[in-house]
Amino acid sequence: MEDAHHGPSNLVLLGPPGAGKGTVAELLVTRLDVPHISSGDMFRAAIRAGTGLGREVAATIKRGELVSDQVTVAVIRERLAAKDAAGGYLLDGFPRTIAQAEALQALSKVSAVINLDVSDDLAVLRISGRRVCTADREIYHLANRPPHVAGVCDRCGGPLIQRDDDRPAAVRHRLQVYHRLTTPLVEFYARRALLLGVDGSLPAIQVRDQILAHLPTRGARPLAAGA
Ligand code: AMP
Repeated sequence: MEDAHHGPSNLVLLGPPGAGKGTVAELLVTRLDVPHISSGDMFRAAIRAGTGLGREVAATIKRGELVSDQVTVAVIRERLAAKDAAGGYLLDGFPRTIAQAEALQALSKVSAVINLDVSDDLAVLRISGRRVCTADREIYHLANRPPHVAGVCDRCGGPLIQRDDDRPAAVRHRLQVYHRLTTPLVEFYARRALLLGVDGSLPAIQVRDQILAHLPTRGARPLAAGA
């Protein structure tokens, strides 16, 4: 959303796999007029559609490794050029390396970076219980947010699956990759006074509300009573 005093809300969500980035992003964009741009969702959509990009990245993602900076930046550059991102965006899962963060600085003026802080133990717990609808991509959790009927999406009736990269071996690898390549971004953005740290172990609604209360923008719509 464009704001006369602060400019567009160009937001980045940082945090390890299992921090709740996807869930919190969905909750945030219902309050902020910006598109939720998830590099992981874009790659998975390309894999499902069987595009050249999908074939290029499928094996890497399945192993829990990072897609190359070159390919990832090209995908995000194109997405940020779309009309709906002109007034702001919420990036989820990008950037993940210093090179990607530098590329983003050259593309756009980031207004805030939200770091969802969670321990590795909690991240593993959350990821191992995560299930995703194959049809509408809704996210469930076997313990924290079970579907009404086991294995079936409440919203659309589609089948729920575990992502390949949510299996234990890939998860451990993703966390190692995160600590090696992505945690330096916390320092990168802190130095630029853009970082907002939030306790990602809290329930997603509370995380959302803390973020909305601290964003350096007036783009948030007022909270509806009871929401
Ligand atoms: P996510 O849904 O964000 O956990 O992303 C799933 C997978 O997609 C990651 O484990 C990576 O293999 C790949 N991926 C997503 N975003 C990026 C990125 N910014 N850079 C490199 N690889 C990425």
